[in-house]
Amino acid sequence: MNEPILRLVNIESSYGPVRAIRGVSLEVARGAIVTVLGTNGAGKSTILKTISGILDPDKGQVFFEGQLINGKPANWIVRQGISHVPEGREIFPLLTVHEHLLMGAYTRMDADVVKRDIERMYAYFPILKARRDQEAQQLSGGEQQMLAIARALMARPKLLLLDEPSLGLSPKLVKEIFEIIVRINAEEGTTMLLVEQNAAIALACAQFGYVLEVGRIVLEDTSERLLQKEDVREFFLGMKSDAVRGERRWKRKKQWR
Ligand code: ATP
Repeated sequence: MNEPILRLVNIESSYGPVRAIRGVSLEVARGAIVTVLGTNGAGKSTILKTISGILDPDKGQVFFEGQLINGKPANWIVRQGISHVPEGREIFPLLTVHEHLLMGAYTRMDADVVKRDIERMYAYFPILKARRDQEAQQLSGGEQQMLAIARALMARPKLLLLDEPSLGLSPKLVKEIFEIIVRINAEEGTTMLLVEQNAAIALACAQFGYVLEVGRIVLEDTSERLLQKEDVREFFLGMKSDAVRGERRWKRKKQWR
């Protein structure tokens, strides 16, 4: 079997005294889209921050292409091929769309190819081309999300970490953005680790998923099988079968597997 591009082994990460994730182990196959589902505060963003070097884990290992990367500086991790689209997008209000894309390529020396990559981003996201010289503060939420994704892709990552790209967007825009994510995965071969509360859209485009509850992974399976699990359907998709309608509640962790 091919070695996964990313492997987390028994990760624990904290904010001061607050332990946010514990015993998290997961794998992402090269070229795949893998999702981590979980409700507010489950620890999804913490997983991504630990991978991209924003947070140092207290315990455990993060391997990228077989190399141990935890404890390394975030800019070194970007250079290894991991880009992070954070929750909240972290757009600079006064910089133009074009300046954001140039900024995304800051680790690169190949100016000509950078130019071509910017045009490729404009082809994926035509609205960004139309807004090329506008300040980012003039963009809508959906356009800002597109800009954050395009900026991250300008580093030519092998692995893209996406933190809730659906947050605050209309269903139509969510669909549009996810269609582009799937296209980029297929056409560029970029591996994606996607954390989401919107399980329906995440499982529709990912091949494999993990469910995180209060900092621990409680379930992992192919998206197809997760979509068939009653707990996932009921809790994340709001779909109740006849058998569960009425009295069943969210099952606790030990009942998941
Ligand atoms: P959300 O979808 O709301 O962002 P999440 O699943 O991404 O949720 P995290 O942001 O990873 O969850 O947070 C996990 C836990 O860590 C939560 O209990 C949260 O309150 C806590 N936490 C997150 N960031 C900080 C911080 N900077 N300082 C202290 N605690 C934090």
